[in-house]
Amino acid sequence: MRRACASVPRVRVPQFDMAGELAPVRAEIEAAALRVIASGRFIGGPEVEGFEAELARACGASHAIGVSSGTDALIVTLMALGVGAGDEVVTTPFTFFATAGAIARLGATPVFADVSDETLCLDPRAIAITARTKAVIPVHLFGRPAMIPSVDVPVIEDAAQAIGSGPVRGTAATLSFFPTKNLGAIGDAGAVLTDDAGLADKIARLRNHGARQRYHHDLVGGNFRLDAIQAAVLRAKLPWLDRWTAARRAIAARYRSLFASARVPAELRLPADDPAHVYHHYVIRAPRRDALREHLAAAGIGSEVYYPVPLHQQPCFAHLRSPALPIAERAAREVLALPMYPSLATPAQQLVVDEIARFYAA
Ligand SMILES: *Cc1c(COP(=O)(O)O)cnc(C)c1O
Repeated sequence: MRRACASVPRVRVPQFDMAGELAPVRAEIEAAALRVIASGRFIGGPEVEGFEAELARACGASHAIGVSSGTDALIVTLMALGVGAGDEVVTTPFTFFATAGAIARLGATPVFADVSDETLCLDPRAIAITARTKAVIPVHLFGRPAMIPSVDVPVIEDAAQAIGSGPVRGTAATLSFFPTKNLGAIGDAGAVLTDDAGLADKIARLRNHGARQRYHHDLVGGNFRLDAIQAAVLRAKLPWLDRWTAARRAIAARYRSLFASARVPAELRLPADDPAHVYHHYVIRAPRRDALREHLAAAGIGSEVYYPVPLHQQPCFAHLRSPALPIAERAAREVLALPMYPSLATPAQQLVVDEIARFYAA
């Protein structure tokens, strides 16, 4: 095999495998997309309605509202709850930017509370509710269901990484169908799940410029609609979700048993067991993380750092003068996501664990 550059190793185990992900459903996805093109119904219509009904059933929610992305799912839910300028929303600093970005986009202030060292999710004990607090957003990080705090304000679950991890426990849960998520579209897409009929109705209007009936606007919303083509593709993939989730859980269990018989330092921490975890990512906490990551890259093994900079330390939030959040800050230095995707085979996992053991033996 020719290599462009001798220092770039051949990828033996990628961190994520998009081609492998699409292979078993490729024909169904193509048929779904062609069906939409032939129908000429590109916005709204039966594909969107059909997907919403099937998604609500699959997730055990009374209502599912398809929207344009996981970010817009957060924005439109916050809008529906009346969150705006002068309000505060408590959330975790250890998440993808969109969680806090959505709060700030509405003119509200994200208030960061530290995470639990065991789960890396928002720690309910770290939350302080004030008169300005309008909502709390826990994030089901890497697919692990976060604790739902018992508070007197609405709780929005950011479940972008956690579809299939259980029923809605807060006021609403938001999903992302970004292509690499556990249920991925072929572009941007998202949804809001809720058991509150009034909230569902308001979100459905807000996603379409606040109109229940065309050209009659009772609210100022936006264009947060889900494309019909994405809905059709997601309908083709949704029946596979349970199988894929089971495969992810089996892969996580296999990592645990492979690590149990490998010589790795005691400080290397595996994700704590949780039967509801859907393992969007398999994230270990590793001593000498950056050197380990370089070693794996040189051995042709993909890995990723989610997330290197906690949100309270991002330049755009410097003006918030957040206090230090030591658990999140330490996690940012230690976390490493190992290869995780439903088709990941045992020999490849063995290779990953062997290379990690080799790094620490050196
Ligand atoms: C992916 C993600 C989002 C945003 O979803 P998009 O569909 O990319 O807009 C929000 N929160 C978390 C935790 C995510 O992982």
